[in-house]
Amino acid sequence: MPLEIKVLGSPGNDNAMFTRLDTGQNVYHFLMDCGEACLYSIGKGLIQEIDHLFLSHCHMDHLCGFDGIFRHLYSRPRPFEIWGPSDFIFMMSCRFRSFAWNLVENKQGEMRVHQIMSNEIHCASFFCRESFSKKHPFPSQKFTGRIIEHPDYTVDCVILDHKIDSIAYLVSETNRININTDIMETMGLKAGKWCADLKNNALPDDTILAIEGKDYSIGMLRKKLLEMKKGGKIAYVTDFILNEKNHSKLIPFLEKADEVVMECSYRDSEIELAKKNYHITVTEAASLAKEAHVDRLTLFHISDRYHQKDRLEMLKDAQSIHPNTRFPPHWQVIP
Ligand SMILES: [Zn+2]
Repeated sequence: MPLEIKVLGSPGNDNAMFTRLDTGQNVYHFLMDCGEACLYSIGKGLIQEIDHLFLSHCHMDHLCGFDGIFRHLYSRPRPFEIWGPSDFIFMMSCRFRSFAWNLVENKQGEMRVHQIMSNEIHCASFFCRESFSKKHPFPSQKFTGRIIEHPDYTVDCVILDHKIDSIAYLVSETNRININTDIMETMGLKAGKWCADLKNNALPDDTILAIEGKDYSIGMLRKKLLEMKKGGKIAYVTDFILNEKNHSKLIPFLEKADEVVMECSYRDSEIELAKKNYHITVTEAASLAKEAHVDRLTLFHISDRYHQKDRLEMLKDAQSIHPNTRFPPHWQVIP
């Protein structure tokens, strides 16, 4: 699948999720949360390529790895887009200012901070050349659930209750029109500029294309060769209580996602503790995935009170409800 994820960090420790979308023409990188020591497995080169950082909320275990990212891209030429909940612009501006800045007046670098609230999204930029000291606000946008509409992908979110706002994100790859190269070969055609013409809506079906000295109707070629490839959908959902309100938001949000990476902080026997801390149990995670017809559920963000034997039992509990469930492969929880 062109949309791939990798859960970062180890069980019982801070986690994050790295997402890569490769459309064949373009590659995009997203990071969801950035807990402590999560980024070592990505490396400096890839950190510098992150297009968007999406924060669920600002508890330390989700944000304290930010300095490691900031350090590597504070002066890169294109803006670094960072998304988070209420008070986010203030909190990030304090972080930017908490370093000594000199000799940067000629450097590039822009931190563009988006603050997602139930009714509006606020946005402001901070520039390296100004030591990140001034806030440059953009006009506010109405919050509709969709926060990014890009030709190659969209990003939607819902705000969940974790006793504070906690944001769940859904990355959807845009449906693509592909050329069936097997059929192309059987027709004796070779790839060329005409392939782009097939996808060019400005050219009507009765257009005649000359390919290697022979005339073809573009409408006929489209019918035979073009096929729609449905884009993948991947969600990141962590730190929330499973109350009625969160449940009613999540079911349509996660509906038929290809993969959902979801917290499973506690075992079901400790549901009271889960509720007290505004988290969910492994059984609740699996039931949500089943109800939303999710294809694969990847569990993460697990309490450090559990060891490998517990994790294995938790996985079996989840698989009894939603069979296509796993922990991140590198955690090696294998039944
Ligand atoms: Zn939290």
